[in-house]
Order: sequence, then structure tokens, then C-alpha cells
Amino acid sequence: MDVQLDAREAGQRIPQRVKGNYRLSDFIIERTLGTGSFGRVHLVRSKHNLRFYAIKVLNKERIVKMKQVEHTNNEMHMLELVQHPFIINLWGTFQDASNLYMVMDFVPGGELFTLLRRSNRFPDPVAKFYAAEVALALNHLHSLDIIYRDLKPENILLNHDGHIKVADFGFAKLCMTTTWTLCGTPDYLAPEVIGQQRYNKSVDWYALGVLIFEMLSGLPPFHQPDANPVQLYEKITHGPAYIRFPTAFNANATDLIMKLMESDPSKRYGNMRHGAGDVFAHPWFKEVDWDKLAAREITAPYLPKISGDGDASAFDKYPEDNATAAYGVPVPDLFGEEFPDFEYTAPS
Ligand code: AMP
Repeated sequence: MDVQLDAREAGQRIPQRVKGNYRLSDFIIERTLGTGSFGRVHLVRSKHNLRFYAIKVLNKERIVKMKQVEHTNNEMHMLELVQHPFIINLWGTFQDASNLYMVMDFVPGGELFTLLRRSNRFPDPVAKFYAAEVALALNHLHSLDIIYRDLKPENILLNHDGHIKVADFGFAKLCMTTTWTLCGTPDYLAPEVIGQQRYNKSVDWYALGVLIFEMLSGLPPFHQPDANPVQLYEKITHGPAYIRFPTAFNANATDLIMKLMESDPSKRYGNMRHGAGDVFAHPWFKEVDWDKLAAREITAPYLPKISGDGDASAFDKYPEDNATAAYGVPVPDLFGEEFPDFEYTAPS
């Protein structure tokens, strides 16, 4: 398995995206699917083709105040670059005086996080299936020199057929060599990120190790019940030798987690001479047929219960708080020039 398979599959199986010009009045906003630091993600329905989409709305002022302008522009640019069966598809973006809007496919199966918390932990083959699809997605991003930087169960969505879609590219960026910004989610940060050293794409492979552990045991390896970041960062810095593996853990899974969570990035699986090939060839993945998996020919272990198009019952309910009333209101636009690639649209 190598990156060639990626390119082949990207070329053959994904219909070319036709960039559309969108505006808010093209859609009926149905409900909120999720919230983030800068706004909400809504389930919407196109008035034209009646299909359902998800629109992520980000408030420009909040982005500027939280110094996330570059990350937000990166998010859009990275998603525009990527088309892959296991990664969320971005149809287009636009902005008005207050907000940025990103139009994506609606992924109806909810977050892997919800499924995992409901199941407590996944049996070995289930964790392996999701980990293998994530490994293919990461390999594809890395083949485009994109570092993802926010792998965690909350950001892995399940499609109607149970296959994954990696979402939230808020920390993704183009990175040919190394970078240094401290970002991500505490439990999933590699030691070199915490140590404020320069780091590379291998932080995503480290996070895959954390994810595999969390899927198999129910919690991340250095989880602090009191969410104390100082103690958490100390444990991460001590390295994987300090992980307490439950006795029932599969020996090959333990070995792969140790190799992905290796503290020295130059010895970390995914970041050595054979790149992702070492991960794909690891004995824990022995029974995975990577070509079939990439072609979505392996049946997913869990089929989301979806009653029809636009069924969002897999998502938590959020108070709507009349949030949409503020969209498209003609107020002074103070921050638009910070986001030059989000096209402007008139409200109707
Ligand atoms: P984000 O800020 O991108 O992490 O989005 C916040 C939450 O909204 C996610 O954790 C998902 O629950 C939900 N969400 C984001 N994008 C989509 C999508 N394309 N389809 C369905 N739900 C989504």
C-alpha cells in the first residue's frame, strides 16, 4: 500500500467538485448539529435541489479576537484541496458582513465520539476498522503535505453507510517540513508539541496511537479525571512506557500504540523511511485488505440508524437560541478583508 493507491482512488472514485456560488438564501436552515468556538454547524436544505447539507457558520469578529484568522483561512484552503472518501467534502464558501459560511456534505451518522461513549469501548475488530480508515485519510492528507493536527473521536463523523468522514480542519495546514504552533486537543498532543519544539506530520500518527488506545479502552491513555493539564502534560512527556494497558489488550494493538506514541519523532511509526507503509504493514492490521478498504468495499461494523435524508437524530440537540436571526444582517463589515478567499454574497 502506498500513496499511489490514494491518487488512483481520488481520481477514479470521487466525482469532480463543481464549485458553486452559494448564498444563505439558497438554503432553509433546519437545525443546529454542533457548536464550536466561533459559531455553529447547521443542517440545511437546498431550495434548488432539495438535498441536505451542513453549513458551518463562523463569526468573523470572534475569529479575529481569538487570533484564529490564519487557522480559519487554512481550514478553508485545506478543505478545498482535499477530496477523499474518508474526508468531509466542502462544496463552497461565502461570507456576509458578520459571518463566514462553509457548505459541506451533511454526514448523518453522528460523531464516532458518541458511538464510543455509548459503547464504552470497541471490540478489537471495530477499533481496527475505524483506525485503518483514519490511517488512509491521514496518509492522503500527508501525501498533499497537509498536517491535520486535531485527530480525536469528536472529529470523526460516520456516514450513512458507517464509513468515516474526518471533519473539522480548523487546525490543518500545509506543512512541507516543520511547524511549531501549539494547537490541538490536550489528550491527543504529542510530547514535542507540548515541549514547544518544532514538529512535523508525525504528530498525526502520534494522535492515531492515542485514538486506538481510546477506542479499545474507552479513555485516552493519560486521561486525567480532573482535567488537570499540568499532570496530563507531565505524563505525555514521560512517554508511552508509562501507559497502563488493560490486561485484556491485544498484544499487537499494544505494540502499534507504543510505536505510534513513540516520543522521539524520528523513531515514530509513520515518520520513518517507509512512511505510512510501516503503519499499514503492522501485524495489528494484518487482516486489513487496504485496497478494498480504500474502495469502501469492507462493510462497516456499525450502520447508523437513519430514517431518511435529513434525519439528524444521531446528533445531540442544541438550543437554537434564535442564532440564525443574526445571519445576513446588513451591519458594518469590520473584518472582511481578513478572509479574502471567502466570496461575498448579497443576502438574496
Ligand atoms: P466543527 O467545528 O467542524 O468540529 O463542527 C462542530 C460539530 O458539528 C462536529 O463535531 C459535528 O458534530 C458537527 N458537524 C460538523 N460538520 C458536519 C457535517 N458536515 N455533517 C454533520 N455534522 C457536522
